[in-house]
Amino acid sequence: MKRTCQICKKEYETTEFSRRKTCSEECSKELKRRYFKKYRKENPEKFREASRRYRERHLQEVKGKNRVRKKEYYRTHSEEEKERLRKYRKDGE
Ligand SMILES: [Zn+2]
Repeated sequence: MKRTCQICKKEYETTEFSRRKTCSEECSKELKRRYFKKYRKENPEKFREASRRYRERHLQEVKGKNRVRKKEYYRTHSEEEKERLRKYRKDGE
């Protein structure tokens, strides 16, 4: 049977039981995008909550990364510091 693609309006061949509503991969991607946009428009509070949670999680991650970076900074710098002291002592001999 023939159906009309919901995106590009082209006719395409499909079976009666197929749930496909589009003629191609590209069109079904576009259809998903549209559904998503529509869903977001109809449920703005859900998305606000989700983006708030995302921001919070992201902040936690950033904080965690900073902690690691600080630790690494101290580690490499204390190595440099030891090296510097070693040289300093050598020079003093
Ligand atoms: Zn199409």
